[in-house]
Amino acid sequence: MWGLTKLAAMLATGISFLGPNQQTILEACRINLHAHFEALIPPVTITRMAKKNNITLPEDMWKFQQTFFYPSFEHFADAYFKMILPIQNAQDYYDGALAALKRFKEIGTCYSEIKFCPDCVVKGVDWQDAYAEIKRAIEESEVEGAFYTRLILTFVRGLTNETNAVSYVDWIVEQHQKGDKLIVGIDVSGNEAQFPDLSPYVAAYAAASKASLNKTVHAGELQGAEAVDHAIRLLNPDRIGHGVSAINSPETLEKLRENNIPLEVNVQSNVCLAAQNITSYVAHPLPQLLQANITVVLGSDDDTLFGSSILEEERRIIDNFALTQKDIWGIYNTSITHSFAPEELKTRLYQMWKQAYGQGCQRSKFRTQK
Ligand SMILES: [Zn+2]
Repeated sequence: MWGLTKLAAMLATGISFLGPNQQTILEACRINLHAHFEALIPPVTITRMAKKNNITLPEDMWKFQQTFFYPSFEHFADAYFKMILPIQNAQDYYDGALAALKRFKEIGTCYSEIKFCPDCVVKGVDWQDAYAEIKRAIEESEVEGAFYTRLILTFVRGLTNETNAVSYVDWIVEQHQKGDKLIVGIDVSGNEAQFPDLSPYVAAYAAASKASLNKTVHAGELQGAEAVDHAIRLLNPDRIGHGVSAINSPETLEKLRENNIPLEVNVQSNVCLAAQNITSYVAHPLPQLLQANITVVLGSDDDTLFGSSILEEERRIIDNFALTQKDIWGIYNTSITHSFAPEELKTRLYQMWKQAYGQGCQRSKFRTQK
C-alpha cells in the first residue's frame, strides 16, 4: 500500500513513479529543454564531493543562495567556478549526474536535454571520460515510459575555438555511426556581451546541418535583438536559447515566426542575471512573446545557481502571469514537438504527456482562469 505521506509528496510534485503492479503511472510530464550539466548538481552532492576529495570550499561558497541575484555575468561565472571546484575525477561526473537526474525524476521531469560542455571539464580529467561517466548515469537513470534524458554538446564563446568546434561535431557524428546517439544536438553558450561574434562557429554548424544534427544557440540573453538576427543569419538554428531581447524588434519576431524557431525561455535565470533589465517576474516578456505568436519551450538553465527547477519555473509562470496550468501543459506538448528527441522517442513522449495530462486537461476546464 502507498503511504499517505508518499501520496501527499507525490501529488505535491507530480512525481513519476512505478505503481504497485509495476505499471508506470505518470502524475506529470515536465519537459526541460535548457539546462547545463555542472549547474544541476545539488549543493549537498557538491559538499559531499568536496569532503571525499579533501577540497576546502571557499567560505563564501554558498553566499549566492541568499538572493540568487548576480549583479553581472562575471559574478555568476565566479559562483559557477567555485561550484565546480570539488569535481576532481571522472567518477565525480557520474556521481554529479546521478544526483542531478534523481532530482529531475523527483519533480516529474519526463524528458530533458542537458548541455554538456567538453571545454568546461576540469583540468586533469579527459572530457571523453567525463562524457562516458555522464552517459553511464543517464543510462542507469532511464525509466522506460517515464524518464528520458539526452545531451546537447555546447561550445563556449571565447573558449571553444573554430577548430575544436568542428572536431566536436566530427566526434558526435562518429559516435552516432557507432550507435551512440545520446548527444542530439549542438549549442553555443557563455558570455554573449563579451564575445558577441558567432562566426567562429559557422563551420561547425554547417557540418552539423550536413550530418542532420540539431542546433540551438544562446542569443539575445545579454545582447539586443540584433544578436538574435546574427545567430539566425550565421548559424541557421532550430531553436534559440533565451532570445528574450527579440521582443524589442518586430523584424526579429517576424524572422522567428517565419523560420518557426522556438525560444528556450528560462524565466528565473533572466531575473537572477537581470538579463535585458528583467529584474522581476512580471517584467519578463514571456506573455508578450506568446501573444506575438512566438513558439516557446521551457528550461531551468542552472538549477543550483539560480534556485530554479522546471517545477519552480512552472509555478512562477502560473503565479506571475495570466497563464494557467493548462497553458503550461500546452507548452510541454510544443516542447516535445521542438525537442531534439528522435521520432520514435517523440512518439513515446506524446503518449507519456497524454497519460499525465490527458484527463487533467479535461478537468482543467473547471479551473478558475486568471
Ligand atoms: Zn543557458
